[in-house]
Amino acid sequence: MHDSGYRSQGVAAAVALVNAATVPGADASDEALRALLRAHGFRWSELDEAGARRLRAWGRNLRPLFETGELREAVDLLNRLMLRTPMHPHLSAHDGEPLHLHFAPPSARLPDRFRATTLMRLAELLAEHGLTRTGVCAAGGCGRVYADTSRGGRRRFCSASCANRTNVAAFRSRRAGPGDI
Ligand SMILES: [Zn+2]
Repeated sequence: MHDSGYRSQGVAAAVALVNAATVPGADASDEALRALLRAHGFRWSELDEAGARRLRAWGRNLRPLFETGELREAVDLLNRLMLRTPMHPHLSAHDGEPLHLHFAPPSARLPDRFRATTLMRLAELLAEHGLTRTGVCAAGGCGRVYADTSRGGRRRFCSASCANRTNVAAFRSRRAGPGDI
């Protein structure tokens, strides 16, 4: 079960951007990035070409967090990025939603808001769970990253289809193994 609300949404936005910006063959066009922002609750109409470039660069900056097995490295990366990202906490109650905290004011440009939000949500996830909730998909040849904000936190794949494909392959190789002869 996924928890709801801003926290998991910020983490999911980070994952989607890393996958769009760094996985060979993924769609990181301006239009795809607008769809990604829309899907994760960011206002997108202001995203221009320069903003899209900054978002792709941000995806590349975040990828090492999902790849590293060293907590120290992940902490250093996030601390470095937090020092480079201007943040101004802002309480918001827009669109009839309950009062909640943003990490950049509405006046901040979209890439800056996106950076502040994804960074803080990933930092919270790391502070709470270490590196047990982030990683690269365990399916061979996939290369997409994932983050697990569910209660159980046992995720190892980017998607159900990668999990199924891998489980079916493992089942077949067991069936064909010497133990069955
Ligand atoms: Zn996968």
